[in-house]
Amino acid sequence: MDELKNIIRDVPDFPKKGIIFKDITTLLSDAKSYQRMIDSIANRYVGQRIDKVVGVEARGFIIGAALAYKLNAGIVLVRKPGKLPAETFKKTYDLEYGTDTLEMHTDAIKKGERILIADDLLATGGTMGAVVDMVNSMGGEIVECCFMAELEFLDGRKKLPAGKVFSLLIF
Ligand code: IMP
Repeated sequence: MDELKNIIRDVPDFPKKGIIFKDITTLLSDAKSYQRMIDSIANRYVGQRIDKVVGVEARGFIIGAALAYKLNAGIVLVRKPGKLPAETFKKTYDLEYGTDTLEMHTDAIKKGERILIADDLLATGGTMGAVVDMVNSMGGEIVECCFMAELEFLDGRKKLPAGKVFSLLIF
C-alpha cells in the first residue's frame, strides 16, 4: 500500500495557509492505482450483502460509485444543499470555523437496508459523522464507513461508530 500512499500528492497551504492537503487526483488519474485502490476496498465486502453504497459529494462519488458497481449495490448520493431534485432532508454539522450542511433524498434508503458509506478521506470526522446520523435516522443498517485515506492524527474515528471504520491508506 506504500506505493498507493506515495502517489498521493501533498499540496501545502491549500485550501488555506498552514494546511497540507492530500491531493488524491494523482492516484485517481493513474489507471493501475485507481483499480488497485477500488479492488482493495471492495474485496473487504465481497460475500457480504450490501444493498446500497452512500457516496459523499464530491470525491466520495468517485469511490462510492465504483464500489457499488463491484458489490452489485445501488449508489445513493449525499449532496451539498440545493442539488438534489426531489424531496430532501438536511443535516448541519460543525466545522472548525462555522457549519456545513448535507442533503439526501427522503426516500433514498429503506429501513433495514445494509449500507456501506464511502468517502475519499477521513480528517476530523465531522462530515462522516453527519452522514452516519442521516443513514441512522432513515433506519439504514451501517455495515461500515470506508475511506481511501485517513489522517490518523486528527482522531476522526472517535466521532464514528466504534469498529465500523475502514481506511485503506493511513497517514
Ligand atoms: P472531515 O469532515 O474533517 O473528516 O473532512 C473530510 C472531508 O473533507 C472529506 O469529504 C474530504 O473529501 C475532505 N478533505 C479534508 N481534508 C482533505 C485532504 O487533505 N484531501 C482531500 N480531501 C480532504
